[in-house]
Amino acid sequence: MSLLTVNENGLYCKQGDFYIDPWRPVKVALITHGHSDHMRWGMKHYICHHHTVPILKLRLGIEQSVEGVEYGEALEMNGVSVSFHPAGHIIGSAQIRLSYQGEVWVFTGDYKMEPDGVSVPFESVPCDHFISECTFGLPIYRFPAQTLLYQEINDWWRSNAQQGYNTVLYGYALGKAQNILAHLDGAIGDIYLHGAVANVNDALEEVGYQFPGRRIATDSDRRTMEGALIVAPPSADNTPWVRKLKPYREGMCSGWMQLRGSRRRRSVDKGFALSDHCDWNQLNSAVERSGASHIYLTHGYESNFARWVAERYGKQSAVLKTLYNDEMEEEGWIS
Ligand SMILES: [Zn+2]
Ligand SMILES: [Zn+2]
Repeated sequence: MSLLTVNENGLYCKQGDFYIDPWRPVKVALITHGHSDHMRWGMKHYICHHHTVPILKLRLGIEQSVEGVEYGEALEMNGVSVSFHPAGHIIGSAQIRLSYQGEVWVFTGDYKMEPDGVSVPFESVPCDHFISECTFGLPIYRFPAQTLLYQEINDWWRSNAQQGYNTVLYGYALGKAQNILAHLDGAIGDIYLHGAVANVNDALEEVGYQFPGRRIATDSDRRTMEGALIVAPPSADNTPWVRKLKPYREGMCSGWMQLRGSRRRRSVDKGFALSDHCDWNQLNSAVERSGASHIYLTHGYESNFARWVAERYGKQSAVLKTLYNDEMEEEGWIS
């Protein structure tokens, strides 16, 4: 008996007749989080954590049929018990737990185990079958503690400001941007936001979140910006929009920045290996702590990691082919 299988529409639970993060339009879609490879357009009915609801309405339109649930709340779907649990990836992100006739399956969606101070921290959910992403599933990926990275970011901003430069920090508009904003030292200077980031912040305000920073509008006077910090999505790099903020130095926040090559390819002044995903050690720890006998790997280095899991932990492992990509592909980082 398989509680979750992949078909042409997505990850399907036959017993409960619903999908998780489907990529084609279906009737009932359980959504792990608001990144666009997991939350797509065209579902009849969406079920997600209630902090994802305003994001869904922002990105897919307010007329969508959406049901918000709490972490740990028990749902019953055609005899399958369903609950959402914190994934620690971004605000509202959830792992989804299914239980049917004594068997428990968990789909992680995207997750990280290190608390980011903004989203509800990851919770290990015991299960028999564990489906994990493995975006950074290679031993070369070991991220520095986020507290150190935020200290580096603030130090760099301060020194740029002292030299008369603005600081532009690129990070994904949903997730990375809020984490950066929550850790900036506002005493250094003014904080500004690209419209895409400001839109997400405004949506999150509806469910009680508040982040610093002023939206840069088309009529904003950029001459008054001096030593300011501007948070923008990676897609703003190399655009006339960002060039109007001169003189500035640019930094990129992404797990991929751990590799020197990707920094060079992006030609930014600084890279911060700030990640919304697990690194190698976190992935290993998640697999062990799940207690699952069966491990399925999806998006990332799934075949390498599947082999490693079988050899190292003696667990049954398999690759699940899905259409999820990571946020970099979404932003056109990797061709
Ligand atoms: Zn994601
Ligand atoms: Zn993803």
